[in-house]
Amino acid sequence: MALFGSIEGGGTKFVAAIGSAPDNLRAVDTIPTTTPDETLRRATDSLAQHGPLDAIGVAMFGPLDLDRSSATYGTVRATPKPGWSGANVVSWLRGAFGVPIGFDTDVNGAALGEGRWGAGRNLDTFLYATVGTGIGGGGVIAGDPIHGLVHPEIGHLRIPRYPEDTFPGVCPFHGDCLEGLAAGPAIAGRWGRPATELGSDFDRAIEFEAHALGHAMANLVLTVSPERIILGGGVMKLPGLLDSTRRQMVESLGGYVDTPALSGGAEEFLVAPGLGDRSGIAGGLVLAERAWSGLNR
Ligand code: ZN
Repeated sequence: MALFGSIEGGGTKFVAAIGSAPDNLRAVDTIPTTTPDETLRRATDSLAQHGPLDAIGVAMFGPLDLDRSSATYGTVRATPKPGWSGANVVSWLRGAFGVPIGFDTDVNGAALGEGRWGAGRNLDTFLYATVGTGIGGGGVIAGDPIHGLVHPEIGHLRIPRYPEDTFPGVCPFHGDCLEGLAAGPAIAGRWGRPATELGSDFDRAIEFEAHALGHAMANLVLTVSPERIILGGGVMKLPGLLDSTRRQMVESLGGYVDTPALSGGAEEFLVAPGLGDRSGIAGGLVLAERAWSGLNR
């Protein structure tokens, strides 16, 4: 049986693990994200201790060059993360292990993981989005992770503002895009304290948040027509936010997309991850398996 390594690369930490499924991971190591050389060396050391691997999958923060015909395939594109712009993650790992390397965004990876073991099982076309320090999204269309011009960047969708909201937003590119209005730092910036300490502003904050996220989810329904949207990340753990976002999504659609999945509460349509915080590391295993079996798209 093939043995796969998985790396989930985040802006603050990398997780490296070996296994065949998210419920039987071994050698799970958490490594702080520093320079590319140091971080990848520690991830490599961690995986190398556990026998010869057949393939490794990497699900990591972007933007990434995923175009296999590009001379810079496997690199991190221009990113504000110091030192990471141009880092060639795939070359590094191929050099260290000499095995096939699967490589995709953290959110496409998480979607693949959820598709195999979590909330996306038995679906062909579905999306995964995460709301935390930033907002990202990816997904699977007809069984394959979404690539195209580059890869989806749903955190930067433009959405209508809550009518009374005058907060300028925190996105350095757009100000009041989805991420600018609704990621964790936007909550902290708008209310002057983090989401966990909102006190008497809590209900209002949830209303603003659901307004932004619900419109974004409606836009995704209209664009991609997914069978389901999985919505994870730290901010989505705020009590009541997922329900409020469902309601706002349905209201924003205005009854136009006439399908049972979106009637009533849309509770089976817009859902929390089935794998909790393990979607990404699970996705790395699927990416490894895809690389190993020659599915390189
Ligand atoms: Zn933006």
